[in-house]
Order: sequence, then C-alpha cells, then structure tokens
Amino acid sequence: MVLTLSGVVVLGLMTLSTSAGAVEWVLGAAVLISGALAYYVGSQTLTPPRETLNDLTGAQRPPTPLSDSGLTPLIQSLPFPALIINPDQRLSIANARAMDVFRLSRDTGLLITAAIRQPDLLTAFIRVAKTGAREQLEFSAYDEGQSWMAHMHAGPKAGSVLMILEDTTAVRRAEQARADFLANASHELRTPLTAIAGFIETMRGPAREDKDSWDGFLEIMFQQSERMKRLVADLLSLSRIEFSEHRSPSTQLDLTVLVSGTGLSLQPIAAETGIRILLNQTDTSHFVVADADEMQQVVQNLAGNAIKYSPSGGTVTLSMGQSRTMAEAPGDCGRQIEGASRATLLVPRASAEVPAVWIRVEDHGEGIPARHLPRLGERFYRVDESRGGSIEGTGLGLAIVKHIMARHRGGFMVESLEGTGTAFAVWMPRFQVPLTQ
Ligand code: ADP
Repeated sequence: MVLTLSGVVVLGLMTLSTSAGAVEWVLGAAVLISGALAYYVGSQTLTPPRETLNDLTGAQRPPTPLSDSGLTPLIQSLPFPALIINPDQRLSIANARAMDVFRLSRDTGLLITAAIRQPDLLTAFIRVAKTGAREQLEFSAYDEGQSWMAHMHAGPKAGSVLMILEDTTAVRRAEQARADFLANASHELRTPLTAIAGFIETMRGPAREDKDSWDGFLEIMFQQSERMKRLVADLLSLSRIEFSEHRSPSTQLDLTVLVSGTGLSLQPIAAETGIRILLNQTDTSHFVVADADEMQQVVQNLAGNAIKYSPSGGTVTLSMGQSRTMAEAPGDCGRQIEGASRATLLVPRASAEVPAVWIRVEDHGEGIPARHLPRLGERFYRVDESRGGSIEGTGLGLAIVKHIMARHRGGFMVESLEGTGTAFAVWMPRFQVPLTQ
C-alpha cells in the first residue's frame, strides 16, 4: 500500500509541473521522496518508470503551472513529516506530522524563524534556500528522546525549500543500548579480572615468601574467577536468547512437570542456607508450546533469586495456576501481597483473549523499594548495588527471564513490599489439551 502511495507521490509530483525550472525540482523531489518512502518500507530506492522520465524531458505535454494548492494534498498524504518554505521564508505547507514535530500552530504562513527553533537546522535551511544544494542534518526536536534526520532540497520555486524528516530515534536508541551494554559488560568483567591480577602481583612480589597468606589470596581469586564464569555464562545465555527471540518456540510440553522438576532440583541449594522450597498447586497439567531449557531457566533464575535474597530459615513458594484469559492472568498471579507496589516488566504480545497459565515465585525476604521495581529486567540493573549489599550477582538474571518470556509471547511482573517479601510472576498462552498425544 505504501509502495502504491509512493507511485502516486512520484506521479503526482511529475504531473504537477513540466515547465523548465520545475522539471528539475520535480525530478529531484521525486527521487528524494521515493527514496524516503523506500527507506520507510525497508526496500530499495524506487526509480520512476523510464518512459515517464522521458515524457518529462520531452516537449509533448502542455506546461502545467505549479501551484501550492496542488502540492498541499500531496504533502499532506506523505507518511512522514514534510514541509515546504516559500522564497519569502514563510511556511507554504506543513503536513500534520511536521506540525507535530515542530509544534506549529498553523500549517501555512508562519515565518521560518518561528517555525524552526533549532539554530543549526535553521542555518542549513537558509543555506539550501540560497544555494539550492541538497543537505541533510540530524537534530532532536522538542521531545528529548526523539531524533530526526532532515533531508532538505531545493523546492518548486527558486528560493523555496522542501524538507522531509526521517525518524532516526530507534536507530539511535539501539546504538546507545549497544554502547551501554558493551561498557557495562566490559566494566563487569574487568572488576574481577583486576582483582585476580592484583593478587597475582602481590603473590609474586611483596607476599612472595609469605606462603601462609596465599590460601586467603587463592580463595579470593577463586571467587572472582567464579564471578567471571557466571557473568560470561549469563552474557552467552542472553545473546543466545536474543538471537532466537524472533523465532517462536515449537515444542509442546507440560509446564507443571517442568516447574516441579526445577523446584525439586533447587532444594539442595536452598537447604544449604536453611531455606525450604514449597510447591503449591503443581498437581494439574498445563500444556504450553515452549522451549523447555528456556522455561527451566526462567524458574531457576526466579527461584534462585528468591533463595539468594531470603533470610536463612525462610521459605520460597513456587505456585502455578491457570487463568481464563491472558488479560486476567496478572490479576490472578501478581496481586497477592496486600499493600505491595507492583510493576509490569513485560507486556505480553499474545492476544489478551487466549487462555493463560502462570508461574509465581514468592519469598519472604526484605523486599524491594518501589522506585526500583520498574527498572528490574534492565540488563545489569542491581538493587543491591545502591543498597551497598554484598550478595553476589550479575544483574542479568531478570533480563534473561524477560527476553525468554518475550519469545514465548508472555508477560512478566513483580510485586514487593519492604519488610514482607517479593513475588515475581510470569504468564503465557496455554492449551486446553495436549496438541499431540
Ligand atoms: P542478580 O544476578 O544481581 O541477582 P538479577 O537480574 O537476577 O541479578 O536481579 C536484579 C536485581 O533485582 C538484584 O540485584 C536484586 O537487587 C533484585 N532482586 C531480584 N530478585 C529479588 C528478590 N527475590 N528479592 C529481592 N531483590 C531481588
């Protein structure tokens, strides 16, 4: 549909004018707009049909005067912000999207200095009006997080300028996220590495003869290397999950068997710190289409955290249940601690109407302050860092859960009350009966 629209745009521009000066503009604008449209649909640059281009350069057609009123519907119909400034430096036309970006009160008549408040953009715009040479410039509009690439081109009349905007926000955000991730990962890996290197240095230098102190040093070096191992394992899990996130899982399994099996396998670890794992309502089968290893990791990460952040002697409860619809699931599994604060960490992609199954992992640890809840699931986000706590962790466990649940079209939420405890819950589509026997 967008391709059809681009055809209309190109043809529209062509038929608007065949007079000498305008032909050049029409060709330029057609290429510019069709290029932007092609970018918009993620395909190659569109090229107007050869015979139409020949038509344009030939003298067969009677000249049609180029009018602003003729351009208005064309500019308005573009699926991205576009505007034209007249040679008198007043707005000729701005479509609704451009009005939004520049917060314009009118779509015509405004002076360029009132319409464009970004000094660099304004300077470039004036240059294009003077020279007619094409320019592009990236800028952020009033809305902080939003960035745009402005493509400026000589307009239909001498001294007028056409500007179309391409939204570059997603690209910039992805770049920023990648850079942050690399910086965080390097920092997290460098910390234990620096500690290990420091102890090696000490053992080879000042403590060379002090063999009695070596045991202590070796113990710390071992702990630091374990920390690095965990970090590398989590980073690998995360990248493997991200890689497969856009491929839906295809194996059918009974989630109840998986949850109770994983719960039982964690009992020895929990017992080390005197914690009991209770399995609640895990006697009914719940069939799902899922990746068994990944769902096991979800339970392991959530229950592992519950054990880690519980006081010795506490209990961790793993419960399961089904909901009539995905929309009802968060109410069923995520609202059980009275007075708790809550945050949805992942909104499900699955239809709100399909039946759901949920898993809830609850502990009676110290709880998480409300302000931290919405950020859980961000890579490397650790509440304990700010608390100055000493519990080991990578800050990747919940991010892994979030990515796995995204692949399973599920949801993820947390509820917590300081001094009472924390519960994490995930939910996903369920099938009434096994798909195959
Ligand atoms: P980590 O490896 O640090 O545990 P996670 O991504 O699993 O990383 O968790 C992120 C942070 O969320 C943790 O550092 C911790 O501060 C907090 N957290 C997670 N689960 C719990 C819980 N059950 N109780 C209290 N805090 C928790």
